[in-house]
Amino acid sequence: MRFETLAIHAGQEPEPQFGAVNVPIYQTSTYAQPEVGRPRRYDYARGGNPTREAFQTALASLEGGTRCLAFASGLAAETTLLLTLAPGDHVLLGNDVYGGTYRLLARVLAGWGLAFDVVDMTDPQAVASAVRDTTRVIWVETPTNPLLKVVDVAAVAEIAHAAGARCVVDNTFATPYLQRPLELGADVVVHSVTKYLAGHSDLVAGAIVTGDEELAERLAFLQNAVGAVPGPMDCYLALRGLKTLAVRMEAHCRGARAIVELLQGHPRVARVHYPGLPGHPGFEVAVRQMRDFGGMVSFELRSKEEAFRVAGRTRLFFLAESLGGVESLIELPAPMTHASVAGSPLEVPETLVRLSVGIEHPEDLVRDLAAALD
Ligand SMILES: *Cc1c(COP(=O)(O)O)cnc(C)c1O
Repeated sequence: MRFETLAIHAGQEPEPQFGAVNVPIYQTSTYAQPEVGRPRRYDYARGGNPTREAFQTALASLEGGTRCLAFASGLAAETTLLLTLAPGDHVLLGNDVYGGTYRLLARVLAGWGLAFDVVDMTDPQAVASAVRDTTRVIWVETPTNPLLKVVDVAAVAEIAHAAGARCVVDNTFATPYLQRPLELGADVVVHSVTKYLAGHSDLVAGAIVTGDEELAERLAFLQNAVGAVPGPMDCYLALRGLKTLAVRMEAHCRGARAIVELLQGHPRVARVHYPGLPGHPGFEVAVRQMRDFGGMVSFELRSKEEAFRVAGRTRLFFLAESLGGVESLIELPAPMTHASVAGSPLEVPETLVRLSVGIEHPEDLVRDLAAALD
């Protein structure tokens, strides 16, 4: 089956008792057991829930993996994944990885003995020379946040495998509709489900997908043992989001193209970052590994003051953190989403503006941003 069909059918058989076509919200913490020590499918909801399982099955199939584990947030998924490592192990991160991922390594897990280095992930040679004997994970994000750099997943996966490490891809920005890292050779995909997958800015959740059964077994154990699980209502909403992912992503891409066109010709704009621009350094890799270029756009103005002014003046683009919802958002990474990485190798220009282009009509979005720029 094709993507659009799997999104609506994988893991989503009509409910057996009444035939409800939507997977019910199983809002329960526990399950009655017919006999001592012989529970039915589930015994306690941290360990398993049918609504969560339906979401996991659907997302695993969309990513082309065999198993998916859902979590209470993207960072809960990342933390649980990194707990498969041991003290002394080494992780290689990109130099503009999501700020929360960097903070998790630098300010939480480093204290538990996990080593890490930051490299330019767009340069395979730099990645290869940063690998150590103890490297267990090479952590890729592509396109990156907020500079939308593109990393060659197949090239990095090959370096990881030669070193006996796993290649993990944070696929939050692209989603499986635009990019399937497991097919490109990656071992694990992580998501902030909060963003495009759920898609309506109404929940926080995360997920891990893999085709590696041994790792999946360990992750399933940790999902229950660590306990950072999502509730059934959020799993229901996330599953509902998946059903329209394909049509939403088409609309996000269409809107982004119109916005990029406006920005490119605008005298106040110093630089536009979008992987779909032929002049973008990652354009060729993006064409090779992505179906389209996504709904995230960032651009630089000529001063910090101008960036503050523009971000405060749009009406349809709400000034807010986060991304991937149906409504358009604008933000300044330096003082907002990326404030926690100031002074680190991940610092971003103060003149940078980031847009999450929603699915409103592109003409309205262009008019709104043009008015804020003028
Ligand atoms: C938001 C985000 C995360 C973290 O996810 P939460 O759901 O906020 O915990 C991780 N990676 C990327 C690329 C993100 O945008």
